Amino acid sequence: MNNRIEAVNGVEIPQLGFGVYKIKKGEEFERVIREAIRVGYRHFDTAKIYGNEKALGREIKKSGIPREQFFITSKVWTTDLGYKATKKAFEESCNKLDVSYLDMYLIHFAGPRYLEAWKAIKELYSEGKIRVIGVANFEIEQLEHVRMHSSISPMINQIETHPEFSQNELHDYLGRHRILHEAWAPLGQGNKVLLQRPELTDIALRHKKSSAQVILRWHIQRGIIVIPKSSNPQRIKENFEIFDFELTEKEMETINRLNSGKRYSVHPTGYMVNPFYIKLMKLFIK
Ligand code: NDP
Repeated sequence: MNNRIEAVNGVEIPQLGFGVYKIKKGEEFERVIREAIRVGYRHFDTAKIYGNEKALGREIKKSGIPREQFFITSKVWTTDLGYKATKKAFEESCNKLDVSYLDMYLIHFAGPRYLEAWKAIKELYSEGKIRVIGVANFEIEQLEHVRMHSSISPMINQIETHPEFSQNELHDYLGRHRILHEAWAPLGQGNKVLLQRPELTDIALRHKKSSAQVILRWHIQRGIIVIPKSSNPQRIKENFEIFDFELTEKEMETINRLNSGKRYSVHPTGYMVNPFYIKLMKLFIK
């Protein structure tokens, strides 16, 4: 069982997906994806920079389940931003995933030439090669910039979001502009201090669920798309079982109050102004 959320163009997105960043390569990756598919996940979130598009595509094929039943997202990396470079990167991602279209394609960060990249993505969308187009790690200023210069606005923004960093201002902005909010690090990257907060463990106990399930349910009730990552079979299953209970308004408010504005990752524009990081990434993705 999974909820579906409609993008502005009517395409339905499974609200619970599976993130594949940092899953160990090789046999472990195969085992994890096989298990996720077995449990019922059909929405997978990858990116060129994760280096596992090929392996993910292979496991999806091996499952024997028709391609149309999957919802596959990939992202264009910063060094591939630009009109021609983004089109090329898109083709490469499709080839690695062994698919003829992507369900969702995102600009990974608002790096240099993101407007030209957006033009390429819009064209690919018009040609029917992408079903939902969007961005990741964009702030209001950059979203306004794209909206001002483009006939089609991003349909989704994938951003760090968890109880300690609930992104209230950006969340409201996205809602006003009919841009979907997708959370990366929905579990705060499994931070043990967060998962053991008494506010969460109390609610979890009441619903006979885990803190992680309570957090995921909080996102779901905020209308956010979540893509938790786990390499552990028990937790893969646990994270899927979040549609058979409901948090009360009071419980939602208790979790809302955990927001301290604390990012677990650096500010997205921090990456973009750091030449060392850009250089490192160029080497990494060769
Ligand atoms: P998550 O919040 O999904 O946390 C993953 C961590 O939580 C892992 O260490 C995992 O450990 C642990 N975990 C998972 N389930 C549970 C559970 N039920 N109880 C306790 N611990 C749990 O963080 P991610 O950073 O992985 O984000 C998810 C996805 O978002 C990524 O895989 C990627 O697809 C995407 N992403 C996008 C970014 C972007 O810039 N657009 C940046 C970062 C991520 P274990 O595996 O051992 O279960």
